[in-house]
Amino acid sequence: MNHEQSRALYDRALSVLPGGVNSSVRATRPYPFFVEKGDGGHVIDADGNRYIDFVLGYGPLLLGHSLPEQVQSAIQQHAAEGPMYGAPTEVEVELAEFVTRHVPSVEMLRFVNSGTEATVSAVRLARGYTGRDKIVVMQSGYHGAQESTLVEGEGDHTAPSSPGIPESFAEHTLTVPFNDEEAAHEVFEEHGDDIAAVLTEPILGNYGIVHPVEGYHETLRELCDDHGSLLIFDEVITGFRVGGLQCAQGAFGIDPDITTFGKIVGGGFPVGAIGGKSEIIEQFTPAGDVFQSGTFSGHPVTMAAGLETLRYAAEHDVYSHVNELGDRLRSGLQDILRDQAPEYTVVGRDSMFKVIFTRDGPDSFDGHCEAGCRQQESCPRFDYCPKNGGDVKQAETERWERLFWPAMKDRGVFLTANQFESQFICDAHTGEDIENALEAYKEAI
Ligand SMILES: *Cc1c(COP(=O)(O)O)cnc(C)c1O
Repeated sequence: MNHEQSRALYDRALSVLPGGVNSSVRATRPYPFFVEKGDGGHVIDADGNRYIDFVLGYGPLLLGHSLPEQVQSAIQQHAAEGPMYGAPTEVEVELAEFVTRHVPSVEMLRFVNSGTEATVSAVRLARGYTGRDKIVVMQSGYHGAQESTLVEGEGDHTAPSSPGIPESFAEHTLTVPFNDEEAAHEVFEEHGDDIAAVLTEPILGNYGIVHPVEGYHETLRELCDDHGSLLIFDEVITGFRVGGLQCAQGAFGIDPDITTFGKIVGGGFPVGAIGGKSEIIEQFTPAGDVFQSGTFSGHPVTMAAGLETLRYAAEHDVYSHVNELGDRLRSGLQDILRDQAPEYTVVGRDSMFKVIFTRDGPDSFDGHCEAGCRQQESCPRFDYCPKNGGDVKQAETERWERLFWPAMKDRGVFLTANQFESQFICDAHTGEDIENALEAYKEAI
């Protein structure tokens, strides 16, 4: 595989962009390939190499790169007619109506421009609504590049995880390990009256894909209710991917107070949203007092792309197609691991998937979770499968990143750049893509 053009572009990029990229995860070793264009479920790089694309923009591209006619023409029309105004437009109302109709807990929402902006505003809203400062997040959960959640450490011994963030931010952020009900009880026993909100992804999607154990979200919901705290589901990845149009909260039957969205809801354009009960969302200015504003928020081109993408998914078999391919891929991966690396764990559900290079596994595969880890106690892998971000960190992350990722790239399969980020299937993927990907895994594992 020739990479001369990508190498030359990276050389130029390194002089003008820090690390040669605009988002740190893109700086794969020794240098990233530069994408020339997308084609269905594939991308083609600057040297003409073609890859099956399981990165899909790190989540937003539910339909893949070749957008259906109705999505394309809505985008082009709104781009040609404006592109934006500083006054409201009908398409914002239509997308908001669509989301509130399909996502059980969402009665109202505010659109912003990124997932990060959504979680920043959600935390501010929860603090404003409750009059409390503390938030609880999952250890090594990810909610974007925001000051309040870039923390490390345990319980109330937290510190900023990046230079440039004052210690005082971390003072208000408490951490618990995902899936640990006891730790959640303890943090509420100690700090319950000061906790504005618990902020979690329904399924960790930025830390290897970790499914909740049965009853975990119910416990968080109960603790929040008992202490007057809000439950915030960060559905930036899972929204309109897991559970289809009802999102992960519908699949799990959990009723969060606030939900953050991003990625798919903008149909491939920059987006975020904060949704929830009217009583809470109406605390945002100008209806309420919690300041929230944005020049590009509710951008007509983004709104049109998101709306037509979701309409297309509602009118076609998009979710059954991607979920069926997901099951096929995860089952196939399990078969490969059984022969070649029985200690590794297949994770994910619906159209999310990953293989975690766990170091230990059970002797038997009998009664194993099918098509991806669901944290079932009856599974022989239950004592070995990662329960939280810390467990994923203990896996062979260096082997994954330095040896496995490049080996898959050389075989024409584009995976997310490290052990932690989820991978996705899109509507444009085919059974043949899945078979080819499984062949590549077989060789590269
Ligand atoms: C991607 C992501 C974010 C951040 O979204 P950006 O659009 O990258 O700012 C926040 N939370 C979760 C769960 C995400 O996956």
